[in-house]
Amino acid sequence: MKPLLIDGAWVTTAHAEENRNPSNTNDVIDLYAHAGRAETQAAIEAAARAVPAWASTTPQFRFDILNRVADQVIGRKTEIGTLLSREEGKTLREGIAETERAANIFRFFAGECLRQAGELLPSVRPGVSVEVTREPLGVIGIITPWNFPMAIPSWKIAPALCYGNTVVFKPAELVPGCAWVLADILQSAGVPKGVFNLVTGQGSVVGNTILEAENVEAVTFTGSQGVGSHVAQACIRHMRKLQLEMGGKNPLVVLDDADLDLAVDCAVDGAFYSTGQRCTASSRLIVTEGIYGRFIEKLTERCRALKVGDALDAETDIGPVASAAQLETDLKYIEIARAQGGNLRAGGDLVKGSNEGYFLRPALFTDTTNDMRINREEVFGPVASVIRVRDFEEALATANDTEFGLCSGIMTTSLRYASQFRKESRAGVVMVNLPTAGVDYHVPFGGRKSSSYGPREQGRYAAEFFSTVKTSYIRA
Ligand code: NAP
Repeated sequence: MKPLLIDGAWVTTAHAEENRNPSNTNDVIDLYAHAGRAETQAAIEAAARAVPAWASTTPQFRFDILNRVADQVIGRKTEIGTLLSREEGKTLREGIAETERAANIFRFFAGECLRQAGELLPSVRPGVSVEVTREPLGVIGIITPWNFPMAIPSWKIAPALCYGNTVVFKPAELVPGCAWVLADILQSAGVPKGVFNLVTGQGSVVGNTILEAENVEAVTFTGSQGVGSHVAQACIRHMRKLQLEMGGKNPLVVLDDADLDLAVDCAVDGAFYSTGQRCTASSRLIVTEGIYGRFIEKLTERCRALKVGDALDAETDIGPVASAAQLETDLKYIEIARAQGGNLRAGGDLVKGSNEGYFLRPALFTDTTNDMRINREEVFGPVASVIRVRDFEEALATANDTEFGLCSGIMTTSLRYASQFRKESRAGVVMVNLPTAGVDYHVPFGGRKSSSYGPREQGRYAAEFFSTVKTSYIRA
């Protein structure tokens, strides 16, 4: 059994759960400890005890540790990337790239340890100066989803530790393996006891204990809107700092003047890579009349040629759906789209792999309208739909007509349309001639409307959430 990490010690539990490979459901990866309330509470108390000492370590000390974490992640990237692919179903190429990204995130925040600066401001009063500094918050509860099991935990754990906080980390039940490897690396990189705690287990038990605990100062959550709203209510009830990153229904607009091949490449990548299981997936393709026919023809051809199969097979373009439950959701939405009049141009059927796995051929719908459920609700699978529009104005209005606001994209050679779209798109991230998915690791990330709540993640903007500002008035 792979144990929990509490107060620097590996802790086994009476109950354990296995994780299985979605490319081959007979492949049991390992057994993982399942924490109850008592273990979660013990982790929170250990994290609280560790705050004063960790918060007063030197930036150099934290820099060295985070750098060692980055070294170890990169040194083990093939092993970790393989585990990620086996556990979550991304192709090996994507699994290794995500692992490299995790290492880069730790490296970036190692550097940030040495770059934390304050401000000296003049006071309106004579002989007084004002010093503005950032301080750690204390214990941070980190709750993450299954779709980026290395990158998302890293972009929360690294800044939390960088700014002097301690951590209680609850990963998604589907991906305990990557979480466990991260814990192992943090431990061997010299993170002092209690500073980082891993508590694998159920959302309703471990997650809720974190949300209700008295000494958790802030919660950062990435996941679905439904659970996010529950997390928000608990945090607001306890007056706790809160950061939520949730779903998307991201539009990719293709205008008449777009480079056709590039538009098709971006649509395929944005909609279907990582099996469409990205919050940033281009699930709504909004296409103007002049390019519509040519775009659909090429895109359909490309979709049909995508090779769906075992995530570890080098030939595979699209790995399996991550779980039986997600596959059921995908198939349900394919039926809904059909029933509402969508024209299934490619895929949508189950593929027989060499093993028992959750293989679904990417589904492309045309003849959809923006009011159909397929265009209003997040599917979180390899399902994309095309909406035909007259012109740029209708494309922009359709792109913005959604409750989500995470990413948006436009394919055009017109500088005027690109810059108007960039300005008027109601999304946190805008891509011009790029897929909506695929963001850098060192720049701010987050959305608007019901996609996100609270300060941005990643890059230097992460300081907003992971530290608090102190304003000191000093009379010399
Ligand atoms: P989820 O079902 O909301 O779960 C997210 C996390 O919350 C998991 O660790 C889950 O634990 C935990 N949880 C469940 N119930 C809880 C409770 N009552 N209290 C506290 N925690 C609880 O989401 P998911 O299916 O893992 O991930 C897919 C979603 O994440 C999609 O909507 C996707 O768009 C979103 N996402 C957003 C971003 C972004 O940055 N905007 C990035 C990636 C993914 P269990 O696993 O034990 O249920």
